[in-house]
Amino acid sequence: MPASLYFDSASLRDGRFEAGGIERYPFELINRSHLRECSVFGQGRLLPVLAIDPCNRVEEQVEALSEWEGCYFGFKLHTRATNCCASRLIGSPFIDLAARANIPIIIHTKPVPDFTHARHVVQVAKAHPEVRFSIAHAADFDRTIVAHVAALPNLFFDSSPFLSLCAEYRSQPLTERSQRLPIDFGDPNTGLQSLWRAAPDKLLWGSDEPWTAICSADGTALSSFSYEDEYSLVMSLPEDCRSRIGWSNPLRFLLGDNALEVSIAAAISTKLERLAKLIGSGSRNAD
Ligand SMILES: [Zn+2]
Repeated sequence: MPASLYFDSASLRDGRFEAGGIERYPFELINRSHLRECSVFGQGRLLPVLAIDPCNRVEEQVEALSEWEGCYFGFKLHTRATNCCASRLIGSPFIDLAARANIPIIIHTKPVPDFTHARHVVQVAKAHPEVRFSIAHAADFDRTIVAHVAALPNLFFDSSPFLSLCAEYRSQPLTERSQRLPIDFGDPNTGLQSLWRAAPDKLLWGSDEPWTAICSADGTALSSFSYEDEYSLVMSLPEDCRSRIGWSNPLRFLLGDNALEVSIAAAISTKLERLAKLIGSGSRNAD
């Protein structure tokens, strides 16, 4: 999910997040285009997840999201792109909306800057057991955070983008790995299985950023993996691991604990049909 167009681009270049972009409120245009693209190009295979910003113009966002309720499958908070800590979700109207619609919230996390740290998501998940949350990017492989994921029924984490994470973490000094899970970053197949064993019912494949390329500031490619590379990795896993992180865990995250007992196809197609109707009706907010 790209950054909001709500912020003034000149201020962003200086590291400030000031209103003045082309959106009246965060993700006003981006969410609309995301819904339209999923409906027009998705052919029933793309499930829209809409971006939120709990730090700015919340009322306007909630009004638009309420109008589209039943047409999307979750919310995404990119803490870095919005300059907003996950803890701002506590008690926010986004929580009420997610609980009412039975949809989860994916949250981007990194150990730095501190306001994007995964411990804030743990805090939110404890405060709101009625909503499912996912910590992105393997929770930095942090033992303490992953223990919370395993213990809290409504908290998940994802492995995205695993091959790039292996490349990134392989190059870190050993001293920085002491608080991390014992993952073999030199062998992604074994490494992903180790990560899964830390919380077998909670790891999701993909989710926040299924694949990516990482460049240094001077444009040098540090890693470059395709969707096919990541897909091949997950398909090379033993059956139990593959089916949990690629199927049953994501279904429970998306649809709730009874996901495997209801008609999954019906639950998904009902929303996609609603979305197609919304786009077809030319709703002002979905244009
Ligand atoms: Zn992310």
